[in-house]
Amino acid sequence: MALMITEECINCDVCEPECPNQAIYQGDEVYVIDPSRCTQCIGHYDTPQCMEVCPVDCILQNPSYVETNEQLLLKYERLGTDLITTTTYSESSN
Ligand code: SF4
Ligand code: SF4
Repeated sequence: MALMITEECINCDVCEPECPNQAIYQGDEVYVIDPSRCTQCIGHYDTPQCMEVCPVDCILQNPSYVETNEQLLLKYERLGTDLITTTTYSESSN
C-alpha cells in the first residue's frame, strides 16, 4: 500500500530527501507522495522513512492503493530498472 500525505503537512521539507525512491515532491499546497514510486520503503528499509521523520505524523497509508508486500517488492525492482534507464538517458542528453 503506497503512503499519502494529509493536509496536516507543515511543509517542513524533512521527508523529501529521506525517500529512497524519489516518491515525495512539493505539491501545490503540501508535499505529495507519488503512489507509483512509493514501496513503503520495501527493498530499502524495514520501516517507511518518511513516517519516521515526519514531525506531525501526517503520513498515512493510502487506501486507494492497496498492495501486498510482494507487489511492493516488484515495484521496487521495477523502479531500480527505471532509475538505470533515467540515468542513462540523462547522461546521453547532457
Ligand atoms: S514510505 Fe518510503 S518509499 Fe514511500 S514515500 Fe515514504 S520514504 Fe518514500
Ligand atoms: S515531514 Fe511531514 S510535515 Fe514535513 S514535509 Fe514531509 S509530510 Fe510534510
